[in-house]
Amino acid sequence: MDTLFLEYRDPVFGIIIFFAVIFIIAFLNYWWGVFKSKEERYNAERFIKRFEVMADADEYKKLLDEFSISSESLGLLAHSYSKSGEYEKAIGIYLLALKRVKNKEEKQYFLYQLGKIYFKAGFLRRSTDVLLELLRMYPRHKEALKLLMVIHEQLKEYARALEVMDSLEELDVEVKSEKTFVKALQILNDGSKTNQQKYEILIELTKEEPLIGRILFEFAKRENLDFDVDLIDAHSVLDLLWESEDLKLKSSSQDLVKAVLAAKNGGEIPQNAPFELEVLSVLKRQNYTKAIVGFEYTCTCCKGTFPVHFYRCPSCYTLKDPHISLLLIKKEHEEYYTF
Ligand SMILES: [Zn+2]
Repeated sequence: MDTLFLEYRDPVFGIIIFFAVIFIIAFLNYWWGVFKSKEERYNAERFIKRFEVMADADEYKKLLDEFSISSESLGLLAHSYSKSGEYEKAIGIYLLALKRVKNKEEKQYFLYQLGKIYFKAGFLRRSTDVLLELLRMYPRHKEALKLLMVIHEQLKEYARALEVMDSLEELDVEVKSEKTFVKALQILNDGSKTNQQKYEILIELTKEEPLIGRILFEFAKRENLDFDVDLIDAHSVLDLLWESEDLKLKSSSQDLVKAVLAAKNGGEIPQNAPFELEVLSVLKRQNYTKAIVGFEYTCTCCKGTFPVHFYRCPSCYTLKDPHISLLLIKKEHEEYYTF
């Protein structure tokens, strides 16, 4: 017993105990860290898995009880889902974040994001409801008003779109082009007016806003009305010129129209004509018929390129004539391009 007591008092024994305690603490710390990270990963996986199916109201309540993820983190998660096009999940998370908001600023942010994501996902009515709720709290929210204007335009609710534009004008937002554009769409859908009346009004609107020129051209073409192509800038209807009857283009004084005719028929091409049209004109003269022309449309604002024409950019929603580019295509590949 004495020997044991003496050994316990031995300084070497004390050092051994000291290192043993350090080792045990380090091991426990490591084990706790592994356990916690596993638990966190499991919780996060469970949380995300719950959104793989659209959760209903009860599911959200359960999530609120089970997880304590902040609204900021939910916002980031929803944003990344939105970026990758997983709108359903992003909507679910924004709805959840709205229940966790701490102040009016956060509520404003999440309502706008939710309105935007509903719009992107194609739920236009739901988007309208969310934006109206936001505007009830913040009537001067310009971005919400702009989005609401686009939605009403897409839903063909032109009178409402014009009302929203009035509100934007009161907030010093320039919407002159948008107003004329919506008025032109309103005229086209007005059953009480004859084609001739519509045509005359569209000519007047084109003088106000050149963007309407293409609507006027399309209308005249569809209704087979006599139309002077020099009323509008040929660049905005380059693709439509290609499909038009030559006879209706012959009187034009615009070089681009002459270049299109030359490319189609092999005639003399004006100087500074687009390269593709020049090549086609030369090939036509050589009786080479395998080359045809295609078109693509680039937004002058966000530079996004699309295979079909748009008035309002499908990506950034800017209302502006897109830049129309010509593409030379070998005839056997024609089926890859749909216009
Ligand atoms: Zn754009």
